Amino acid sequence: MQLTIKNLSKTYDNGVVALDNLTLEVGTGLFGLLGPNGAGKSSLMRTLSTLQSADSGEINFNGFDVLQQKSEIRNTLGYLPQEFGVFPKISAFKLLDYYALLKGLGHKKQRREMVDDLLNLVNLYQDKNKNVHEFSGGMKQRFGIAQALIGDPKLIIVDEPTAGLDPGERVRFNNLLSQTGEDRIVILSTHIVDDVSDLCSDMAIINKGKVVKNGVPRDLIKELEGKVWEKPIHKNEYEDYKKQYQIIHSRLQGGHPLIHVWSDEMLEDDFINVPPKLDDVYFTAINSQSQRV
Ligand code: ADP
Repeated sequence: MQLTIKNLSKTYDNGVVALDNLTLEVGTGLFGLLGPNGAGKSSLMRTLSTLQSADSGEINFNGFDVLQQKSEIRNTLGYLPQEFGVFPKISAFKLLDYYALLKGLGHKKQRREMVDDLLNLVNLYQDKNKNVHEFSGGMKQRFGIAQALIGDPKLIIVDEPTAGLDPGERVRFNNLLSQTGEDRIVILSTHIVDDVSDLCSDMAIINKGKVVKNGVPRDLIKELEGKVWEKPIHKNEYEDYKKQYQIIHSRLQGGHPLIHVWSDEMLEDDFINVPPKLDDVYFTAINSQSQRV
């Protein structure tokens, strides 16, 4: 399975450039799309889902032209948006059955069997007669996956799914997502770096509508080996360190800032060399683009 995005650009009517000549190759499995708010992730997801047009560029999925052959793509597409709108007062079973009917699955008995199978898969079978609007956030997102899997789509687009889930729900949701990526392309758009390191076999970081890094998470992490230095500092020292060093990121640990610094050379002054993580890759990529612009 192959999704090829070539030179995709989109400028909104208000002049915001959301996608800027973006090029990306995506193969079977779970693909992580990381980027800060406003990077263009949702614009890309909506374009891939045929919900919005592009100004220029090409998107090809398994030989289909996504920008032109919209109905063909919709037949093989599952989309899980950031948030569903308001759910009607209707049971999980009835709502899923209704979505399946809308997707053109007309045969009642087969459709109902499929709905039961999907509810089983996402572990909501025992809740099938409950109203969806009473579900917890995690249950709603799992219901969303069931909805996205109707008709066995080969391309699934998932937009920021774990925002607002508690840690237990997030783990359950991620396990489910990981299963669904086995024989299709699943694009997971998120700003949660850990979700990408846990789940994805391939990834891209986008910022300001452009791809700033692309590859296998493990390989991208390896590129930074030996170059990430850590040090706890005092809050009032931050500006001085910022002038002197290339700070990757700073986070609080026990109420005090812990900085990560990028350096090719050995750093003295109580810095410790630490194994890089994906968030170091992420911030290094975002920062170096900001410096270039
Ligand atoms: P992300 O999903 O990474 O947060 P978006 O694709 O939502 O990024 O947004 C990219 C940029 O485009 C942002 O600056 C956003 O404000 C702008 N934008 C998104 N949708 C619209 C729209 N419908 N009209 C105008 N500007 C938009």
